[in-house]
Amino acid sequence: MTTPFDDDHLREECGVFGIYGHAEAARHVALGLHALQHRGQEAAGIVAFDGARFQAHRAMGHVSETFESDRVMAELSGYAAIGHVRYATFGATILRNVQPLFADLSFGGFGIAHNGNLTNAMTLRRKLVKQGCIFQSTSDTETILHLVATSTKNSEIDRLIDALHQIEGAYSLVALTSSMMLGMRDPLGVRPLVLGKLDDGSMVFASETCALDIIGADFVRDVEPGEIVIISDDGIQSLKPFQSPRPRFCIFEHIYFARPDSVVEGRSVYDVRKQIGAELARESGVDADVVIPVPDSGVPASIGYAAEARIPFELGIIRNHYVGRTFIEPTQQIRNLGVKLKHNANRPQIAGRRVVLVDDSIVRGTTSLKIVQMVRDAGAREVHMRIASPPTTHSCFYGVDTPERSQLLAATHDIEGMRKFIQADSLAFISMDGLYRAMGEAGRNPAAPQFCDACFTGDYPVSLTDHWGGDEDQSRRSRVKIAG
Ligand code: SF4
Repeated sequence: MTTPFDDDHLREECGVFGIYGHAEAARHVALGLHALQHRGQEAAGIVAFDGARFQAHRAMGHVSETFESDRVMAELSGYAAIGHVRYATFGATILRNVQPLFADLSFGGFGIAHNGNLTNAMTLRRKLVKQGCIFQSTSDTETILHLVATSTKNSEIDRLIDALHQIEGAYSLVALTSSMMLGMRDPLGVRPLVLGKLDDGSMVFASETCALDIIGADFVRDVEPGEIVIISDDGIQSLKPFQSPRPRFCIFEHIYFARPDSVVEGRSVYDVRKQIGAELARESGVDADVVIPVPDSGVPASIGYAAEARIPFELGIIRNHYVGRTFIEPTQQIRNLGVKLKHNANRPQIAGRRVVLVDDSIVRGTTSLKIVQMVRDAGAREVHMRIASPPTTHSCFYGVDTPERSQLLAATHDIEGMRKFIQADSLAFISMDGLYRAMGEAGRNPAAPQFCDACFTGDYPVSLTDHWGGDEDQSRRSRVKIAG
């Protein structure tokens, strides 16, 4: 949950879900969105189609608040529906940016929900506005709507493909028209999207498999990078309108974003995190009495670390899950209490011990500093921080909310400087090759990296057209310019 004190973590991006062919489509989408709540807590929405009319409901807040009313759910009737949970990575947090977006186009209604971030949205938007398009939101996703609307192609599929050929960046999309539901991923497959099936034959798209589990759907397969999967009354169709560059799935999904009970791109997120912990223990073990995770995302890595290092694992920090935005007034006095509102030391597990603390990442370093201090205040003799990712040195432009580079501790400090900043006795990060080994690879292939790892390397796999502006050299340096 994002709170005013949580601004030292990378924030989840968004989650998408869709179902076609079920009498209670919207209720299933609401359940699926519940399971994806960790990917975005600012707003949620559903667009449903009943064969004659599209209905939409979008609101700020959590899924449980947005879809608790029977009246709202009754209005969202129909056999097909798509939904979205949002954390704003592009565009302000205002109701008109809440997805799924919907428009009446020449071929009929078109709803779309997007996880990711388009890196040329502003460039395209300026062009579209010059052509006379009137944008209703500041969301990058609306660019896709206008590209579909203004395409000169004939069929709705050809218009969509035409639009996809113009956008750059990371996207997993679900879309709904009066005759089909579509799921698609960008050519590098940066963000996840899976296809599932219910016993009654209804087909499902979801950002993660944990959202299939909640409605009892079976996992069918991942939507492939660059693939468009079309679900209609005629069955399932797969289109691959792009050249196929080597996929570059976001490695941070495995470290932090995805739920540990999800299987992402064929790998159990929980198992990968445990392997990361084991690699960390092998690479930078230290004499200690207890391994303690920074909850929640540090837990599986800590289990892996403790097992490999043969050091007891204890829940030495307890997280309060009920710290909500509405409860906390972010006054300075409350802010000074800082991290204690969310985390509290479990003193008997810490006092007098040499502690290994395991966390998923260090962003600005302010939370790590507070946690180290809290563990010391609870009586730790030594505090050794171990991080389940390499140093975060670069911002993400593909749908994850990271601070500007200048705000990232690892961009301005070496490891010893970071250790001093967070006041730990020692600090170590998993190596890049160690991370890739935890993913089941032999190591990182520098000539053709197997994943997107740009926030650790600065090796951005998709053009950052808006960010680089007219810097042609930068654009040329980009490894892949997505095109048809
Ligand atoms: Fe994921 Fe980092 Fe790449 Fe963003 S830059 S897509 S967070 S690996």
